[in-house]
Formats: sequence, structure tokens, C-alpha cells
Amino acid sequence: MKLDNFDLVVIGAGVIGLSVAFRIKQIKPQMKVAVVGDSVNSLMASRAAAGMLAPYGESESDDCFFRFCRESLEKYPKFVDELVGVSGESIYLSMAGSIMPKLLVGDRWEDRLTFLEKVGAPFEVWSKERVREKIPYLSEECGEVIWVGQGQINNRQLHDALVKAIKNLGVELIDQRVTGFIKSGDVLDYAVTDSGKIKSREFILAGGSWSGPLAKVLDVELPIRPVKGQMCRVQVDDDCLEYTVGGYLTYIAPWREGNGFVLGSTMEDRGYDPIIENEAIQRLIDQAARVLPCLRNAPLIESWTGLRPAADDGMPVMGKSSRYQNLFYSTGHFRNGILQTPNQADYMAQHVLGTLDREIEEFSPSRYNL
Ligand SMILES: Cc1cc2nc3c(=O)[nH]c(=O)nc-3n(C[C@H](O)[C@H](O)[C@H](O)COP(=O)(O)OP(=O)(O)OC[C@H]3O[C@@H](n4cnc5c(N)ncnc54)[C@H](O)[C@@H]3O)c2cc1C
Repeated sequence: MKLDNFDLVVIGAGVIGLSVAFRIKQIKPQMKVAVVGDSVNSLMASRAAAGMLAPYGESESDDCFFRFCRESLEKYPKFVDELVGVSGESIYLSMAGSIMPKLLVGDRWEDRLTFLEKVGAPFEVWSKERVREKIPYLSEECGEVIWVGQGQINNRQLHDALVKAIKNLGVELIDQRVTGFIKSGDVLDYAVTDSGKIKSREFILAGGSWSGPLAKVLDVELPIRPVKGQMCRVQVDDDCLEYTVGGYLTYIAPWREGNGFVLGSTMEDRGYDPIIENEAIQRLIDQAARVLPCLRNAPLIESWTGLRPAADDGMPVMGKSSRYQNLFYSTGHFRNGILQTPNQADYMAQHVLGTLDREIEEFSPSRYNL
């Protein structure tokens, strides 16, 4: 393989890096694009996530971040259709919505309703009786629930489809870890890996939680830290629940199609810690079983740890570097990177191809002098 003279090299083979490569190659098939990714990285967020597409459950205010996430949700059905078409893979996507039981929302109930009303969200409040009728498996302890029109995806299928789709479009996927760069002044010439150097006209740094150490090699202080999440997946009948159940630290993500339900999650500042703790997993099951009692004795399929890439201000870092002429960043998508994938792919493609109308300042790398 000749690792030379690419127009664009994306560093990072999670959903963020892959989706930008996908979009750019679709728009400009003549461009020579590569994605460099470190496949032994078992902590990557894109395969560890629950796949909730939940702008209305996660956001606190009607700001640019919320609007970006909402736009991304709206783009999802078309994005998945395109990916399925190019990759030939199937992807579970449900737009049936999610429910927030009073049990999990607690004293934030009124604030949530006010927010949903203010932003014109598609939502309903279901009484206890309506809940019994629609979701008989839900615990009575849940009380009323708020139903919101948002989505759920099987993010591992999404990741698999992205890998296949970029290959089908002719993007080179290079299974390597980037350890350094060769540069001339403020221009990057090569990304360096253990098995050689890769020359490109432009680069995108999309290394998730590892973006900080990668940027350090470029003498840039990128304030991204890993936020650890422990999760598990249990075997449950598909019919048990159609909706995603959302709370802040307790959620149930039905992957269905015989793939069970994902139960999440912890939020821990513990660096690159890969440990899975049995007590933490049991706590997740216990909390989720308060909502859906059939989970208590459901067979455990697997448990895992993943790392969310979080910037100091909680916003993504997307756009052009102010320090290097041919470098872009797309990282820091924190708790919502799966949700942001389609909009992020469009936004970054416009950045790289020079067709962007307006930069979102709050996301700009220049806020950290990158
Ligand atoms: C437990 C958990 C639950 C989550 N749940 C949800 C959810 O329900 N909904 C949602 O929207 N989001 C969720 N997220 C967040 C979402 O998963 C992330 O924001 C998103 O996946 C980030 O994608 P990424 O591609 O930037 O990073 P990653 O998926 O971490 O990928 C980073 C990539 O960079 C590669 N890399 C790193 N260093 C190098 C290097 N030096 N050289 C080459 N490659 C390198 C890695 O190997 C990997 O391929 C969750 C995350 C976690 C951990």
C-alpha cells in the first residue's frame, strides 16, 4: 500500500472521523481520502455508547449546542438510508421516542416541561393510567412519564456500516496509531505511524478521548479529558419496551432485534482507566430494574467501559486550526457524539471544502487557541 499524497487524512476511526470521510468522499469522489485508526483501542466511545439520540433529554438550554443536536436528530433517517445504501449493512434506527419517568426526573420535572414547551419539542405527558395501557411492563413506581419524539440507534451497527461505506466509496482505512507529525513551519506534511509516514494536503484530528495527547505532539494544549462510562447489555424480549428510557445516569436503550437492552451508565473522571467493576454494573441493573422489573433477572450478555471525549466547556471542538494552516479538529463530542454524527459530518465537510456559510463560534478551536 502506498501511503502517500492523500488530499485528506482523518486521524481517528470512530463515528466522528469515519462520518466526515464518508460525507467528503460522497461530495468529492475524486478526492484521495484516508482514515487512520487504531483498531486495538477497545475503549473507543463509538462502540461503547448506548446510541440514544436524545437532544431533548440531554440539553438544558435553547443554545447553539441544543440546536446543533436537534438538527442532527432530524438528519438521522436520511443519513441512515444513505449509509445502508452505500454499505449494504442494516442499522437499527427507531424514532418511536423516549420516555422520562417522574421516578428518574425527580424535582427537575417542571423545568424539563418548561424547556420542552419553550423549544417546541414534540412531547406529551402520559398519566399513570396511560402508561399502564401503553407500557404494561413498566414499574408502577415510575408514575407519570414525559414522552418525547427522539431516537435510538444501534451504534455498533452504525460504526460497522460507516467502516464498510467508506471502503466502498474508495476511502483508504489504515489500521495504525499516529505517533507524531512531520511539519514545515505551520504546515503539516506527514502523520507518522510505526509502519511509515503518511503524506497529505490536509488533516483532521478526530481522535476522541486521545485527541489531547495527539495534539500535544503538535505543541498544542487541547483540553479534552476522558470521562469513563461503565455499561452493560442484558437479554430481554424485544416486546418488553419500544421506547428508550432516559434519566441522567440511569437509562435503558433498547437495541431490540434480539440484541437485548443496554443499561447505562456511570460518569467517572478516572483518566484512561479500563476497569469494569462488578458492583458498578450491578448498580446499573438494580437502578434500571426499578423502572423495568423484568431486567432484574435478565441474563447479562456483556459489560464494558468506554471513554467520552469531554472538552473543559462541554462543547465540541470543530473547525479549522488557528495554529496550523492545513489542520482541522473534530472532537470533544462528549455524551452526544452518536447524536451529533450526521450534522457534524456535514459541518466538517463544509469546513474542509470551504463551503461553510457561518462558523459556530462556540465550537471553534480558536476559543482554545488551537
Ligand atoms: C458509555 C458511553 C455511553 C454513551 N452514550 C451515548 C449515547 O447514548 N448517545 C450519544 O449520542 N453519545 C453517546 N456517547 C458518546 C459518544 O459515544 C461519543 O461522543 C462519540 O462516540 C465520540 O466519537 P469519536 O469518534 O470522537 O471517538 P471514539 O469513538 O473514541 O474514536 C476515537 C478514535 O480515534 C482513534 N485514535 C485515538 N488515538 C489515535 C492515534 N494516535 N492514532 C490513530 N487513531 C487514534 C481511536 O482508536 C478511535 O478509533 C456515549 C459514550 C460512552 C463512553
